[in-house]
Amino acid sequence: MSAPLDIHMFPCFWDNYGFLIHSPVTGETACIDTPEPDKIILALEGKDWQLSEIWNTHHHPDHAGGNMELKNLYGAKVRGCGADKSRIPGLDIELADGDSFMFAGHKVHIMETPGHTIGHIIYYIPTMKTAFVGDTVFALGCGRLFEGTPEQMYESIGKIAALPDDTKLYCAHEYTLSNGKFALTVEPDNQDLINYMEEAKARRDQNLPTVPTSVAAEKKANPFFRAATAKQLGKIRKAKDNF
Ligand code: ZN
Ligand code: FE
Repeated sequence: MSAPLDIHMFPCFWDNYGFLIHSPVTGETACIDTPEPDKIILALEGKDWQLSEIWNTHHHPDHAGGNMELKNLYGAKVRGCGADKSRIPGLDIELADGDSFMFAGHKVHIMETPGHTIGHIIYYIPTMKTAFVGDTVFALGCGRLFEGTPEQMYESIGKIAALPDDTKLYCAHEYTLSNGKFALTVEPDNQDLINYMEEAKARRDQNLPTVPTSVAAEKKANPFFRAATAKQLGKIRKAKDNF
């Protein structure tokens, strides 16, 4: 078994998170998406890490907008969804559902999770019990359906829900309190959700992140994980859009 990877998380823009994943053994470092290059560069310098790879979850500017700057600066290779190659700047390695690759002795599995965008992928590392889920799911929420259908999002969330309960989910935005306010309108009597929100409020009061969450926590409290059908998920998503 390979030495564990270090994960470093830091805020970018207003509510995005930047993530670095680093092997203390090989020195390899990847960033998950490129929200705010200046913040990512500062984080790398603070740790004395050199960026070797960029792992894109999807094409939106707050996720892939810093690709070229970081690629040019560090010579990092860019991984992302092949289906979105025309929209991901500097894409070097095209990935698709079921693909995997090795990073510092750890196997990284690719799952396509369309819904928020068509070419959305997540990076799942079983040895770290960790998944970087981009804008597919958030703590107590899911991504807006900009490009995909409720059926696609239902299936995508189903894939994430099927991961082991103790899998940590690193979502790309701090949206938990506003998501939770809406979730409570869907299931006002869900005690797990009530407890989750109390904990989240306490963390935000201390300016602490509520990310990562876990598969187990979302299955108990997230209305989009709890939707029984794609149709129901679509209704909840629409209500959230108008909330
Ligand atoms: Zn997005
Ligand atoms: Fe985003």
